Amino acid sequence: MSTAPTPPVVIGGRPLTLLSAARVYVCGITPYAVTHLGHAATFVWLDTAVRVIRHHGVDVTVCRNITDVDDVLTDAAARIGQPYDELAAMQTFSFDRAMRDLGVMRPTHEPRAHTYVDPVIRMAAALVESGHAYERGGTVYLRGAEVVAASGLTREDALAALADAHERTDDPAKDDPVDVPVWRASSADEPSWPSPWGAGRPGWHSECAAMAVSLLGASVDLHGGGADLTFPHHAYESALAEAVTGVRPFARAWMRVGLVHHEGAKMAKSTGNLVLVPDLLADHDAAAVRLMLLNRSWSRPWTFDPAGLDEAAGLLDRLYAAAGSPGSAAGRAEVAQALRNDLDVPGAVDVALDAGGSAARFALHVLGLDAAHR
Ligand code: ZN
Repeated sequence: MSTAPTPPVVIGGRPLTLLSAARVYVCGITPYAVTHLGHAATFVWLDTAVRVIRHHGVDVTVCRNITDVDDVLTDAAARIGQPYDELAAMQTFSFDRAMRDLGVMRPTHEPRAHTYVDPVIRMAAALVESGHAYERGGTVYLRGAEVVAASGLTREDALAALADAHERTDDPAKDDPVDVPVWRASSADEPSWPSPWGAGRPGWHSECAAMAVSLLGASVDLHGGGADLTFPHHAYESALAEAVTGVRPFARAWMRVGLVHHEGAKMAKSTGNLVLVPDLLADHDAAAVRLMLLNRSWSRPWTFDPAGLDEAAGLLDRLYAAAGSPGSAAGRAEVAQALRNDLDVPGAVDVALDAGGSAARFALHVLGLDAAHR
Protein backbone atom coordinates (compact mmCIF):
# COMPACT_ATOMS: atom_id res chain seq x y z
CA MET A 1 0.00 0.00 0.00
CA SER A 2 1.14 3.53 -0.77
CA THR A 3 2.39 5.62 2.15
CA ALA A 4 1.23 8.86 0.49
CA PRO A 5 -1.28 10.74 2.62
CA THR A 6 -4.83 9.89 1.62
CA PRO A 7 -7.08 12.91 1.17
CA PRO A 8 -10.37 12.67 3.04
CA VAL A 9 -13.54 11.55 1.34
CA VAL A 10 -16.05 14.39 1.67
CA ILE A 11 -19.59 13.25 2.39
CA GLY A 12 -22.39 15.76 2.83
CA GLY A 13 -19.83 18.58 3.04
CA ARG A 14 -18.01 16.80 5.87
CA PRO A 15 -14.39 15.76 5.23
CA LEU A 16 -14.14 12.26 6.62
CA THR A 17 -10.54 11.52 7.50
CA LEU A 18 -10.16 7.77 7.73
CA LEU A 19 -7.01 5.97 8.80
CA SER A 20 -7.08 2.27 8.14
CA ALA A 21 -10.55 1.17 9.15
CA ALA A 22 -14.08 2.53 8.92
CA ARG A 23 -17.43 1.44 10.30
CA VAL A 24 -20.58 2.00 8.28
CA TYR A 25 -24.11 1.39 9.51
CA VAL A 26 -27.01 1.33 7.08
CA CYS A 27 -30.65 1.20 8.14
CA GLY A 28 -31.95 -1.75 6.19
CA ILE A 29 -35.38 -2.93 5.12
CA THR A 30 -38.47 -3.93 7.01
CA PRO A 31 -39.15 -7.09 5.00
CA TYR A 32 -42.90 -6.85 4.47
CA ALA A 33 -43.10 -5.85 0.79
CA VAL A 34 -41.15 -6.10 -2.44
CA THR A 35 -38.08 -3.85 -2.83
CA HIS A 36 -38.89 -0.64 -4.70
CA LEU A 37 -36.68 1.85 -6.48
CA GLY A 38 -36.47 4.09 -3.39
CA HIS A 39 -34.87 1.28 -1.37
CA ALA A 40 -32.59 0.43 -4.28
CA ALA A 41 -31.37 4.04 -4.47
CA THR A 42 -30.42 4.07 -0.78
CA PHE A 43 -28.53 0.78 -0.84
CA VAL A 44 -26.81 1.35 -4.18
CA TRP A 45 -25.55 4.75 -2.96
CA LEU A 46 -24.25 3.38 0.35
CA ASP A 47 -22.60 0.51 -1.54
CA THR A 48 -20.91 3.07 -3.79
CA ALA A 49 -19.71 5.10 -0.80
CA VAL A 50 -18.19 1.93 0.66
CA ARG A 51 -16.50 1.07 -2.67
CA VAL A 52 -15.02 4.58 -2.89
CA ILE A 53 -13.75 4.45 0.71
CA ARG A 54 -12.27 0.96 0.17
CA HIS A 55 -10.53 2.22 -2.95
CA HIS A 56 -8.59 4.56 -0.63
CA GLY A 57 -7.08 1.58 1.17
CA VAL A 58 -9.47 1.70 4.11
CA ASP A 59 -10.89 -1.53 5.50
CA VAL A 60 -14.64 -0.92 5.77
CA THR A 61 -16.93 -2.93 8.04
CA VAL A 62 -20.55 -2.59 6.94
CA CYS A 63 -23.55 -3.41 9.07
CA ARG A 64 -26.95 -3.33 7.36
CA ASN A 65 -29.79 -4.57 9.50
CA ILE A 66 -33.07 -6.27 8.71
CA THR A 67 -35.95 -4.93 10.80
CA ASP A 68 -37.82 -8.21 11.13
CA VAL A 69 -39.63 -7.23 14.33
CA ASP A 70 -41.88 -4.28 13.54
CA ASP A 71 -45.60 -3.56 13.69
CA VAL A 72 -45.66 -2.72 9.96
CA LEU A 73 -44.46 -6.26 9.26
CA THR A 74 -46.76 -7.90 11.84
CA ASP A 75 -49.78 -6.00 10.46
CA ALA A 76 -48.93 -6.86 6.84
CA ALA A 77 -48.55 -10.55 7.75
CA ALA A 78 -51.86 -10.53 9.65
CA ARG A 79 -53.64 -9.01 6.63
CA ILE A 80 -52.54 -11.85 4.36
CA GLY A 81 -52.85 -14.53 7.05
CA GLN A 82 -49.17 -15.50 7.08
CA PRO A 83 -46.83 -15.84 10.09
CA TYR A 84 -44.74 -12.66 10.26
CA ASP A 85 -41.43 -14.49 10.29
CA GLU A 86 -42.37 -16.41 7.13
CA LEU A 87 -43.30 -13.19 5.32
CA ALA A 88 -40.02 -11.66 6.51
CA ALA A 89 -37.99 -14.63 5.23
CA MET A 90 -39.69 -14.51 1.80
CA GLN A 91 -39.24 -10.78 1.36
CA THR A 92 -35.63 -10.92 2.59
CA PHE A 93 -34.89 -13.54 -0.07
CA SER A 94 -36.38 -11.33 -2.78
CA PHE A 95 -34.46 -8.29 -1.45
CA ASP A 96 -31.17 -10.23 -1.49
CA ARG A 97 -31.71 -11.17 -5.12
CA ALA A 98 -32.49 -7.56 -6.11
CA MET A 99 -29.35 -6.33 -4.30
CA ARG A 100 -27.18 -8.99 -5.92
CA ASP A 101 -28.52 -8.10 -9.39
CA LEU A 102 -27.78 -4.42 -8.74
CA GLY A 103 -24.21 -5.23 -7.70
CA VAL A 104 -24.66 -4.27 -4.04
CA MET A 105 -22.01 -6.08 -2.00
CA ARG A 106 -23.15 -8.20 0.92
CA PRO A 107 -22.60 -6.30 4.17
CA THR A 108 -20.06 -7.62 6.67
CA HIS A 109 -22.87 -7.96 9.23
CA GLU A 110 -26.54 -8.37 8.41
CA PRO A 111 -28.21 -8.60 11.82
CA ARG A 112 -31.88 -9.44 12.12
CA ALA A 113 -33.67 -7.48 14.82
CA HIS A 114 -35.14 -10.62 16.40
CA THR A 115 -31.66 -11.80 17.34
CA TYR A 116 -30.86 -8.53 19.14
CA VAL A 117 -33.71 -8.54 21.64
CA ASP A 118 -31.43 -9.07 24.66
CA PRO A 119 -29.20 -6.07 23.84
CA VAL A 120 -32.36 -3.92 23.56
CA ILE A 121 -33.49 -5.14 26.98
CA ARG A 122 -30.06 -4.28 28.42
CA MET A 123 -30.22 -0.87 26.77
CA ALA A 124 -33.71 -0.20 28.14
CA ALA A 125 -32.64 -1.26 31.65
CA ALA A 126 -29.55 0.98 31.52
CA LEU A 127 -31.61 3.95 30.34
CA VAL A 128 -34.18 3.49 33.10
CA GLU A 129 -31.29 3.31 35.58
CA SER A 130 -29.72 6.53 34.23
CA GLY A 131 -33.04 8.39 34.11
CA HIS A 132 -33.11 8.75 30.30
CA ALA A 133 -36.12 6.42 30.22
CA TYR A 134 -39.04 5.35 32.41
CA GLU A 135 -41.39 2.39 32.55
CA ARG A 136 -45.20 2.47 32.39
CA GLY A 137 -47.32 -0.65 32.17
CA GLY A 138 -44.59 -2.84 30.71
CA THR A 139 -43.40 -0.27 28.14
CA VAL A 140 -40.11 1.59 28.56
CA TYR A 141 -40.13 5.12 27.07
CA LEU A 142 -37.13 7.24 26.14
CA ARG A 143 -37.55 10.90 27.12
CA GLY A 144 -37.69 12.72 23.78
CA ALA A 145 -37.78 16.46 24.57
CA GLU A 146 -34.00 16.87 24.09
CA VAL A 147 -34.09 14.82 20.89
CA VAL A 148 -36.67 17.19 19.42
CA ALA A 149 -34.72 20.25 20.61
CA ALA A 150 -31.53 18.92 18.98
CA SER A 151 -33.36 18.14 15.72
CA GLY A 152 -34.10 21.80 15.00
CA LEU A 153 -37.74 20.93 14.29
CA THR A 154 -40.59 22.81 15.92
CA ARG A 155 -42.48 20.72 18.40
CA GLU A 156 -45.50 20.75 16.10
CA ASP A 157 -43.48 19.44 13.12
CA ALA A 158 -41.79 16.85 15.34
CA LEU A 159 -45.16 15.57 16.54
CA ALA A 160 -46.44 15.35 12.95
CA ALA A 161 -43.31 13.43 11.88
CA LEU A 162 -43.64 11.09 14.86
CA ALA A 163 -47.28 10.38 13.98
CA ASP A 164 -46.27 9.76 10.32
CA ALA A 165 -43.76 7.20 11.57
CA HIS A 166 -46.54 5.36 13.45
CA GLU A 167 -45.44 6.59 16.88
CA ARG A 168 -48.44 6.96 19.16
CA THR A 169 -48.24 10.60 20.16
CA ASP A 170 -51.65 10.29 21.90
CA ASP A 171 -50.51 7.47 24.20
CA PRO A 172 -51.72 8.64 27.66
CA ALA A 173 -49.05 6.60 29.47
CA LYS A 174 -46.29 8.91 28.17
CA ASP A 175 -44.96 11.80 30.25
CA ASP A 176 -44.49 13.71 26.98
CA PRO A 177 -45.98 12.90 23.52
CA VAL A 178 -42.47 13.04 21.99
CA ASP A 179 -41.22 10.16 24.17
CA VAL A 180 -40.79 6.91 22.22
CA PRO A 181 -40.81 3.26 23.28
CA VAL A 182 -37.41 1.61 23.73
CA TRP A 183 -39.29 -1.52 24.68
CA ARG A 184 -43.00 -2.11 24.17
CA ALA A 185 -45.44 -4.29 26.07
CA SER A 186 -46.95 -6.91 23.72
CA SER A 187 -50.48 -8.26 23.73
CA ALA A 188 -51.08 -11.99 23.27
CA ASP A 189 -51.23 -11.77 19.44
CA GLU A 190 -48.08 -9.67 19.04
CA PRO A 191 -44.48 -10.95 18.84
CA SER A 192 -43.09 -11.04 22.36
CA TRP A 193 -40.10 -11.94 24.48
CA PRO A 194 -39.79 -12.04 28.26
CA SER A 195 -38.27 -8.95 29.88
CA PRO A 196 -37.95 -7.41 33.37
CA TRP A 197 -41.14 -5.45 32.49
CA GLY A 198 -43.16 -8.43 31.25
CA ALA A 199 -43.73 -9.78 27.75
CA GLY A 200 -42.81 -7.28 25.06
CA ARG A 201 -40.81 -6.43 21.96
CA PRO A 202 -38.18 -3.87 20.99
CA GLY A 203 -39.05 -0.46 19.56
CA TRP A 204 -37.78 0.29 16.06
CA HIS A 205 -35.22 2.99 16.97
CA SER A 206 -33.74 0.93 19.80
CA GLU A 207 -33.34 -2.08 17.50
CA CYS A 208 -31.01 -0.12 15.19
CA ALA A 209 -29.15 1.48 18.12
CA ALA A 210 -28.62 -1.93 19.76
CA MET A 211 -27.47 -3.62 16.54
CA ALA A 212 -25.10 -0.78 15.63
CA VAL A 213 -23.51 -0.54 19.09
CA SER A 214 -23.33 -4.33 19.49
CA LEU A 215 -21.65 -4.95 16.14
CA LEU A 216 -19.72 -1.74 15.39
CA GLY A 217 -19.02 -0.24 18.81
CA ALA A 218 -20.04 3.01 20.44
CA SER A 219 -19.89 5.13 17.28
CA VAL A 220 -19.78 4.81 13.51
CA ASP A 221 -17.88 6.72 10.81
CA LEU A 222 -20.76 6.83 8.37
CA HIS A 223 -24.45 6.20 8.88
CA GLY A 224 -26.81 5.77 5.98
CA GLY A 225 -30.46 5.41 5.20
CA GLY A 226 -33.24 7.03 3.23
CA ALA A 227 -33.83 10.76 3.78
CA ASP A 228 -37.25 9.97 5.25
CA LEU A 229 -35.48 8.35 8.23
CA THR A 230 -33.87 11.61 9.39
CA PHE A 231 -36.58 12.26 11.96
CA PRO A 232 -37.71 10.51 14.03
CA HIS A 233 -35.73 7.35 13.30
CA HIS A 234 -32.13 8.56 13.03
CA ALA A 235 -32.63 11.26 15.67
CA TYR A 236 -33.94 8.80 18.27
CA GLU A 237 -31.56 6.00 17.26
CA SER A 238 -28.60 8.38 17.82
CA ALA A 239 -30.02 9.67 21.09
CA LEU A 240 -30.44 6.10 22.36
CA ALA A 241 -26.93 5.07 21.36
CA GLU A 242 -25.40 8.25 22.85
CA ALA A 243 -27.37 7.92 26.09
CA VAL A 244 -26.31 4.32 26.59
CA THR A 245 -22.62 4.68 25.56
CA GLY A 246 -21.90 8.28 26.57
CA VAL A 247 -20.03 8.64 23.25
CA ARG A 248 -20.98 11.60 21.02
CA PRO A 249 -21.60 11.93 18.19
CA PHE A 250 -22.90 8.45 17.47
CA ALA A 251 -22.27 9.04 13.75
CA ARG A 252 -19.41 11.18 12.35
CA ALA A 253 -21.17 11.63 9.02
CA TRP A 254 -24.61 10.90 7.64
CA MET A 255 -25.63 9.84 4.19
CA ARG A 256 -29.37 10.24 3.93
CA VAL A 257 -30.19 9.43 0.37
CA GLY A 258 -32.66 11.68 -1.49
CA LEU A 259 -36.12 10.21 -1.93
CA VAL A 260 -37.47 9.02 -5.25
CA HIS A 261 -40.74 10.55 -6.45
CA HIS A 262 -43.08 9.08 -8.99
CA GLU A 263 -46.44 10.21 -10.33
CA GLY A 264 -46.27 13.40 -8.26
CA ALA A 265 -45.55 11.89 -4.83
CA LYS A 266 -42.80 10.27 -2.77
CA MET A 267 -42.48 6.63 -3.80
CA ALA A 268 -44.04 4.70 -0.91
CA LYS A 269 -46.12 1.64 -0.36
CA SER A 270 -48.76 3.75 1.37
CA THR A 271 -49.04 5.96 -1.74
CA GLY A 272 -49.23 2.98 -4.10
CA ASN A 273 -46.88 4.54 -6.68
CA LEU A 274 -44.16 1.93 -6.42
CA VAL A 275 -41.74 0.96 -9.15
CA LEU A 276 -40.65 -2.50 -8.02
CA VAL A 277 -37.05 -3.51 -8.59
CA PRO A 278 -37.81 -7.08 -9.79
CA ASP A 279 -40.24 -5.61 -12.38
CA LEU A 280 -37.63 -3.14 -13.64
CA LEU A 281 -34.93 -5.81 -13.80
CA ALA A 282 -37.19 -8.15 -15.77
CA ASP A 283 -36.73 -6.00 -18.87
CA HIS A 284 -33.80 -3.68 -18.10
CA ASP A 285 -30.09 -4.15 -17.69
CA ALA A 286 -29.32 -4.00 -13.94
CA ALA A 287 -26.10 -2.04 -14.60
CA ALA A 288 -28.17 0.62 -16.41
CA VAL A 289 -30.59 0.79 -13.46
CA ARG A 290 -27.61 1.21 -11.13
CA LEU A 291 -26.14 3.98 -13.28
CA MET A 292 -29.53 5.73 -13.48
CA LEU A 293 -29.64 5.76 -9.65
CA LEU A 294 -26.07 7.04 -9.37
CA ASN A 295 -25.81 9.63 -12.13
CA ARG A 296 -27.13 12.47 -9.94
CA SER A 297 -26.59 14.06 -6.52
CA TRP A 298 -27.11 11.45 -3.80
CA SER A 299 -28.75 13.84 -1.37
CA ARG A 300 -31.38 15.49 -3.57
CA PRO A 301 -34.87 14.16 -4.13
CA TRP A 302 -35.61 13.27 -7.77
CA THR A 303 -38.39 12.01 -9.98
CA PHE A 304 -38.23 8.65 -11.70
CA ASP A 305 -38.89 8.82 -15.41
CA PRO A 306 -38.70 5.63 -17.54
CA ALA A 307 -36.88 7.66 -20.23
CA GLY A 308 -34.06 8.08 -17.68
CA LEU A 309 -33.44 4.34 -17.90
CA ASP A 310 -32.86 4.49 -21.65
CA GLU A 311 -30.53 7.46 -21.16
CA ALA A 312 -28.59 5.51 -18.52
CA ALA A 313 -28.36 2.49 -20.84
CA GLY A 314 -26.94 4.74 -23.57
CA LEU A 315 -24.47 6.30 -21.16
CA LEU A 316 -23.37 2.87 -19.96
CA ASP A 317 -22.68 1.81 -23.57
CA ARG A 318 -20.56 4.93 -24.04
CA LEU A 319 -18.64 4.16 -20.83
CA TYR A 320 -17.91 0.62 -22.02
CA ALA A 321 -16.85 1.94 -25.43
CA ALA A 322 -14.54 4.46 -23.70
CA ALA A 323 -13.15 1.67 -21.51
CA GLY A 324 -12.11 -0.19 -24.66
CA SER A 325 -10.20 2.80 -26.04
CA PRO A 326 -6.46 3.38 -25.30
CA GLY A 327 -7.29 6.50 -23.26
CA SER A 328 -5.04 8.50 -20.95
CA ALA A 329 -3.74 7.25 -17.62
CA ALA A 330 -4.13 10.64 -15.94
CA GLY A 331 -7.93 10.40 -15.93
CA ARG A 332 -7.97 7.73 -13.27
CA ALA A 333 -6.84 10.07 -10.49
CA GLU A 334 -9.40 12.62 -11.66
CA VAL A 335 -12.19 10.04 -11.46
CA ALA A 336 -11.10 9.23 -7.88
CA GLN A 337 -10.94 12.94 -7.05
CA ALA A 338 -14.49 13.56 -8.31
CA LEU A 339 -15.77 10.67 -6.21
CA ARG A 340 -13.95 11.91 -3.10
CA ASN A 341 -15.81 15.18 -3.59
CA ASP A 342 -19.15 14.11 -2.12
CA LEU A 343 -19.43 11.17 -4.53
CA ASP A 344 -19.73 13.34 -7.62
CA VAL A 345 -20.69 10.53 -9.99
CA PRO A 346 -21.75 12.76 -12.93
CA GLY A 347 -18.35 14.50 -12.66
CA ALA A 348 -16.53 11.14 -12.49
CA VAL A 349 -18.46 9.81 -15.50
CA ASP A 350 -17.64 12.93 -17.54
CA VAL A 351 -13.92 12.51 -16.81
CA ALA A 352 -14.12 8.78 -17.60
CA LEU A 353 -15.78 9.45 -20.98
CA ASP A 354 -13.23 12.14 -21.86
CA ALA A 355 -10.16 10.24 -20.71
CA GLY A 356 -11.28 6.75 -21.77
CA GLY A 357 -9.08 3.68 -21.26
CA SER A 358 -8.06 2.89 -17.68
CA ALA A 359 -10.02 5.89 -16.31
CA ALA A 360 -13.25 4.52 -17.78
CA ARG A 361 -12.46 0.98 -16.63
CA PHE A 362 -11.75 2.32 -13.15
CA ALA A 363 -15.05 4.27 -13.11
CA LEU A 364 -17.01 1.17 -14.17
CA HIS A 365 -15.33 -0.77 -11.39
CA VAL A 366 -15.45 1.70 -8.49
CA LEU A 367 -19.08 2.54 -9.23
CA GLY A 368 -19.90 -1.17 -9.08
CA LEU A 369 -21.28 -1.10 -12.63
CA ASP A 370 -19.20 -4.15 -13.57
CA ALA A 371 -20.71 -5.97 -10.56
CA ALA A 372 -24.32 -5.41 -11.62
CA HIS A 373 -25.92 -7.83 -14.06
CA ARG A 374 -25.79 -6.84 -17.73
ZN1 ZN B 1 -32.22 2.29 11.61
